[in-house]
Amino acid sequence: MKQSQLFTKTRKEAPADEVSKNAQLLIRAGFLHKEMAGVYSYLPFGLRVMKKIEEIIREEMNSIGGVEMKTSVLQNKEIWEKSNRWDDTIVDNWFKTSLKNGTEIGLSFTNEEAYSNILKQYIHSYKDLPVYPYDFKDIFRNETRSKSGIMRGREFFWKALYSFSKDEAQHNDFYEKSKVAYKNIFERVGIGSLTHITFASGGTFSRFSHEFQAITEAGEDIIYVDEKSGMAVNKEVYTDEVLSELGLDKEKLVEKKAIEVGNIFTLGTKFSEPFDLSYTDEDGKNKHVFMGSYGIGLGRLMGSIVEILSDDKGIVWPETVAPFQIHLVSLCTEESDVKKADEIYESLQKQNKEVLYDDRQGVRAGEKFADSDLIGIPLRVIISPKTLVSDSVEVKKRNEKEAKIISISELLK
Ligand code: ATP
Ligand code: MG
Repeated sequence: MKQSQLFTKTRKEAPADEVSKNAQLLIRAGFLHKEMAGVYSYLPFGLRVMKKIEEIIREEMNSIGGVEMKTSVLQNKEIWEKSNRWDDTIVDNWFKTSLKNGTEIGLSFTNEEAYSNILKQYIHSYKDLPVYPYDFKDIFRNETRSKSGIMRGREFFWKALYSFSKDEAQHNDFYEKSKVAYKNIFERVGIGSLTHITFASGGTFSRFSHEFQAITEAGEDIIYVDEKSGMAVNKEVYTDEVLSELGLDKEKLVEKKAIEVGNIFTLGTKFSEPFDLSYTDEDGKNKHVFMGSYGIGLGRLMGSIVEILSDDKGIVWPETVAPFQIHLVSLCTEESDVKKADEIYESLQKQNKEVLYDDRQGVRAGEKFADSDLIGIPLRVIISPKTLVSDSVEVKKRNEKEAKIISISELLK
């Protein structure tokens, strides 16, 4: 992509009301546009990062048997009444609206009801189980507080998978596999070493759930980490009884601020009962399906990566989720040099490299470097008349201090 063709520009200042580091940097670097508190539009760079994260999650979900689908955002009141989650005194963050004829409808704040209702049509026998449908979707929650940028949106994009199993044993088997897939996801997006599997409240569904908590000062949760095993406990369930049940040595736990980037839940028959989602087992008996849910907020994950991996100059994207792999910065002004720079860009394009080409004229070198640091692409390649005379370019990694000179032929190799 040529920067001269891009409509976004970097900005010196984020909106005055934006207090979170993730949104400040992402807005200044041109990844996001703030619509209102807790609501952001994704600009071209932001969308590219989101799609990278989405693809990593998709690969990991598919590898444990996930089957992708897409549920609707507009939701039928009657379905949510079955599980008693339509009532605003029970669920306080619904966005609701109505049809022209007055019928009330809601905008999805989660997906259990939609999935239970759909899967009921297809699950009849033990032979139909287990199944693991999932989707990527915009979710709407009327959050009271929305000061964490894209880590807590009122509209946000997530992945939710639901497991439908015959019984607890079949469920546990998948639950353990999902932990491995989640671990892979957080490692692949570059925050694996700071993300801890954490015992958390099971809500009204089960004794515990597991959260994946990434350590950052921007986090909204307090967790206690056992640095040896990597396991953690959320403060909300932290008691002596729980610790001994987790075989964790209290003496050794370290208190940290963290953000929940994903979670996995055992739902049991909490939803299959009200939806009468049942099957006939091997002995001809009717049984309720045993369910689990597995969520990840993609915006929250992107915001966490920015919080954790930025420095005083800007964002430092890991290669796996960076909007581009190479930032090709041209300092050329003479026609013959510009032509050579264009040729390098075209050669890299032909090799299917993801290149952002700063071909802007009339922008000072210092300004181009500052923009490049702010945007945070892993590798910067500078084409200047100085090095072009010896058919070379300067290359520098975003996360390293030293630059080096390499020949153009080496670059294109
Ligand atoms: P939290 O405890 O942070 O409020 P939650 O437990 O309500 O989140 P879930 O309903 O289980 O979250 O949603 C699954 C995932 O979606 C979370 O692990 C998180 O990554 C993400 N998520 C939840 N709420 C938001 C939000 N308001 N903005 C962005 N991502 C969110
Ligand atoms: Mg939570």
